Amino acid sequence: MAKKVVIVGAGAGGGLTASRLRKLIPKEELEITVIDRDGTTDFQPSYTMISTGNRSPDQISTPIEHFTKIGIKPIKAEVKEIDPKNRYVITGEEKIGYDVLVLSPGVKFDYGKFPGSDKLFHFWDMHSALKLRQQLAGFNGGRILISVTTKLYKCPPVPWEMAMMLDHYFRMKGIRDKVEITVAHWAPKPFAMFGPTLSEPATRWIEERGIKTINNFTLRSIQADKNEITSETGESVKFDLGIVAPPHLPHDFISNNDDLRSENGWLSSNIDNFRTSKFDDIYGLGDAIAPTVGLGMAGVFAHFQADTVATLIAGDITGSYSAVPYNSLGLCAADLGHAGWIAYCDFGGKLRNQSPFPDCRSTGKSVLFKLAHPIYERYFLANVYGGWY
Ligand SMILES: Cc1cc2nc3c(=O)[nH]c(=O)nc-3n(C[C@H](O)[C@H](O)[C@H](O)COP(=O)(O)OP(=O)(O)OC[C@H]3O[C@@H](n4cnc5c(N)ncnc54)[C@H](O)[C@@H]3O)c2cc1C
Repeated sequence: MAKKVVIVGAGAGGGLTASRLRKLIPKEELEITVIDRDGTTDFQPSYTMISTGNRSPDQISTPIEHFTKIGIKPIKAEVKEIDPKNRYVITGEEKIGYDVLVLSPGVKFDYGKFPGSDKLFHFWDMHSALKLRQQLAGFNGGRILISVTTKLYKCPPVPWEMAMMLDHYFRMKGIRDKVEITVAHWAPKPFAMFGPTLSEPATRWIEERGIKTINNFTLRSIQADKNEITSETGESVKFDLGIVAPPHLPHDFISNNDDLRSENGWLSSNIDNFRTSKFDDIYGLGDAIAPTVGLGMAGVFAHFQADTVATLIAGDITGSYSAVPYNSLGLCAADLGHAGWIAYCDFGGKLRNQSPFPDCRSTGKSVLFKLAHPIYERYFLANVYGGWY
């Protein structure tokens, strides 16, 4: 009888694991089911471009029904609970059994954890990116502020990247001189988490574009009624349009489950084989494990983790031992508005605590490198859906 793999989340980690696994094992031997709450796979790095009007939702989002074309069963439902001892995934409607479970549900935004964050704007999900698009379209001048509520959030460099995109946006609109753009961030420098190889050129470019940065700014409170935010040290910044990343937290079905969560409340997993600590038949990957394994939240990490997870599961089923070892490379195809920039970093040394920073290299910026982002966007969606949608 065919074994059953159930995958929770059709995003970067879950979507790629499903399609990789389908290529490795035929339908007759393995039933693959993907459960997703929103019912789509989104290329989230393009949410910034939804806000600036360079993309429409249908260009960067594929409905999970397309999985049926490559022999994967999609279910649009919200997972409420996992019963690892009896091997069940429980949604509002169903109890779904599995032989192997893969969890890549990303993060939840809990606005209640940071009062006022729900009153501001952001681009960290599709719905909010569309709301911000409307605000930007009607913005004719004033102070734009970009900040983050939690230390961990999806795509660490994106606040500064978006600032450069907005610089270009308002130059094209002909009103750049009427707009002040500020990034207030906990880091000591733009891109500081990647070390000087990336942070030095990025800081220079940000200054050249006339973008203001307030470094070492850890957000303490938002006074939405006064259009003001305040840092841990009491520094206040006023704005006309506030763009603030909401609090990123683990999903309740993980943080409430003692069998699945690690000590920090996020999904348990380990960097070698992505199995959870208590159950060999449950794999965890993507943003949901980032704080547990000590990585940032990035699709490229989920991408390479999916390679390892899919080949490990295929190995268990076929009895082969040729799993792809985890490649801890981070790749960023940044669109800075006026130019593109490609950076790649090996996080191996950082993960082994041998170095404070990843080992990074980057191209200079060039208009030509703006092509990298759309190429990767098409490649990602085609990769998840087997190129047949
Ligand atoms: C604006 C922005 C820019 C970014 N830029 C980059 C970049 O340049 N480079 C890069 O590498 N990364 C980037 N990222 C980060 C990247 O998109 C994420 O790290 C990546 O998508 C994480 O993959 P994941 O599989 O862990 O989660 P996701 O891709 O978030 O997928 C999780 C899926 O699980 C589903 N789900 C959640 N809860 C449930 C539930 N209870 N039941 C069922 N389904 C559920 C969701 O609907 C979702 O489809 C960016 C992100 C954003 C928002």
